[in-house]
Amino acid sequence: MEQLRQLPSTERLASAVTQALADEPHALVIEAARSTLERARQSMLQGGILPTSADLEQEVIAAVEALVRPTLIPVINATGVIVHTNLGRALLSTAALDAMRRIGAGYSNLEFDLASGTRGSRTLHAEILLARLTGAEAALIVNNNAAAVMLVMAALARDRQVLVSRGQLVEIGGGFRIPDVLRQSGAHLVEVGTTNRTYARDYLEATTPETAMILSVHYSNFRLQGFVHQPELSELAAVARDNNLILVEDLGSGCLLDTLPYGLSHEPTVQESIAAGAHLVCFSGDKLFGGPQAGIIVGTHQLLTAVKRHPLVRALRVDKMTFAGIQATLLHYLRGEAETQVPVWRMIAASLESLMLRVQHCSAVLSAAGIDTRTLAGESTVGGGSLPGETMPTLLLALPHAHPQDLARRLRQGQPAVVPRIQDGMVVFDLRTVLPDEDAILVRAILSA
Ligand SMILES: *Cc1c(COP(=O)(O)O)cnc(C)c1O
Repeated sequence: MEQLRQLPSTERLASAVTQALADEPHALVIEAARSTLERARQSMLQGGILPTSADLEQEVIAAVEALVRPTLIPVINATGVIVHTNLGRALLSTAALDAMRRIGAGYSNLEFDLASGTRGSRTLHAEILLARLTGAEAALIVNNNAAAVMLVMAALARDRQVLVSRGQLVEIGGGFRIPDVLRQSGAHLVEVGTTNRTYARDYLEATTPETAMILSVHYSNFRLQGFVHQPELSELAAVARDNNLILVEDLGSGCLLDTLPYGLSHEPTVQESIAAGAHLVCFSGDKLFGGPQAGIIVGTHQLLTAVKRHPLVRALRVDKMTFAGIQATLLHYLRGEAETQVPVWRMIAASLESLMLRVQHCSAVLSAAGIDTRTLAGESTVGGGSLPGETMPTLLLALPHAHPQDLARRLRQGQPAVVPRIQDGMVVFDLRTVLPDEDAILVRAILSA
């Protein structure tokens, strides 16, 4: 075919785009030029026309840029779900990010005892602050809360029985199901009570010489309502004490602050569980605690010493940046400044007045550009396995649009990507989960979509 000869050589096509791709490795450019030409050849053999040089160059540039572009990109979360697992859960405080940067950029005493000059233990970091803030004797940090629960079961209940209420045999999402986790850890699940009602005496009656543990699991993402009963943790502590059992609570979100002052119902705190007599409490680092991804276990010195000896600890360990981020986040709680410094809590604490001012400002800028907006009352949620069904009143910036799904898709695929919600046939933006310094960026994204 005569026309095939009019295609440029790989080298010529590559050199035509070297200026546009000056920062990228030459070998990548050559590879993209070669596959672009191969595609053009195949298409022409099937009757396609000879592409222009400009088309070929564009294709090479697009192929190389697609390869070097990061797949993980920042997103503006306008959904109003504060701890949004799909959007990366908790945002970190400035101090936590600074600490992670400082420790990530250099060497540290991660596992090195500076006093003696010998090997130290990484499991010590952040332990003193965690113990102090939760009232526990000791702490251990692992990869995530799923790992924490699995590790505790494997280390303390392998080949023994664990009592769990039938109302707490839950699935948290992402494949985390309590019965499966128990099976994987080698512990034997013993179901007690019924789906809706379980009493302390159910645990007592199920206890045998083979029983090692009572596991209590927080309802993170659903609510049981109506004719229901679950014993208080302190009642389970009494059963555990009288029968020499270990009482473990999987608390999920790991709240350290009282949620009542924010108009939310009470979310159980880690301190309360320890005070009520739980021997070990497991929770996530990146839910309401507001730090990096981690699983945090707090509890008695004796049990945590046993847990730390299990080989899984090595497989589930966290890196230096996680310790740095958690320690810095803990300091906010110690100083009583979590509400202003930890982004999750700042969002929970944001007042309707402050949201109103921001919505009005965004509306004014948009309406000056000829875009019609509304202000709607709406609901934000905490999300992330805490306070299921609970909402906080919020104000929404709303865009009436004939095809809201299309507009929402354009916003998600824009730069920066914006994830809005659709309500009453409108695309709506909840500024509670948008950082105040992102407002102007959000407005620009709306204008270009
Ligand atoms: C979220 C949650 C988990 C899983 O925690 P990850 O940190 O996501 O691994 C386990 N148990 C409960 C009760 C939870 O809410």
